Amino acid sequence: MNDGEMSAELKPCPFCGAEPNTHTWQWRGKRMHKVRCERSACLIRPSTNGFDTPGEAAAAWNARHEALQYARLAELTQAEKDGRLVVMPCKVGDLVYQIAVRKKYLNRSMCTPHIKSVEIKTENAFKYMNDIGKTVFLTREEAEAALKKREEADNETD
Ligand SMILES: [Zn+2]
Repeated sequence: MNDGEMSAELKPCPFCGAEPNTHTWQWRGKRMHKVRCERSACLIRPSTNGFDTPGEAAAAWNARHEALQYARLAELTQAEKDGRLVVMPCKVGDLVYQIAVRKKYLNRSMCTPHIKSVEIKTENAFKYMNDIGKTVFLTREEAEAALKKREEADNETD
């Protein structure tokens, strides 16, 4: 859209469907532009803020929440198709509950490291990520339940 002119490409009012009106006025020696719905039957009568150019006002008026969501969804879908999208079970800074795995006598201990970094290796594998649900848990309750299971298993073999 040309910034120099308010085009006829304005979308209708999202609330009543009427064609919006454009306004230009002077404010502190500057020309300001806005788009708004002035239909008397419109219950909302939305208006943009004042913008320096008609194009900016039109772009603000034409922005629709759903359109932004669809654009983001399309971006994420493409990233997933490209193998660039990873949904992590937790984020950097999160505390996790890790059960020691190396020796049998350590099986009953738990530590609570914070996720300090995420390292992408291959096949979207992260440090800890492959261990989540096995030796690393997102909640203390899950970790304690897993520890209890190990204790029970250890007691059966003792
Ligand atoms: Zn309206």
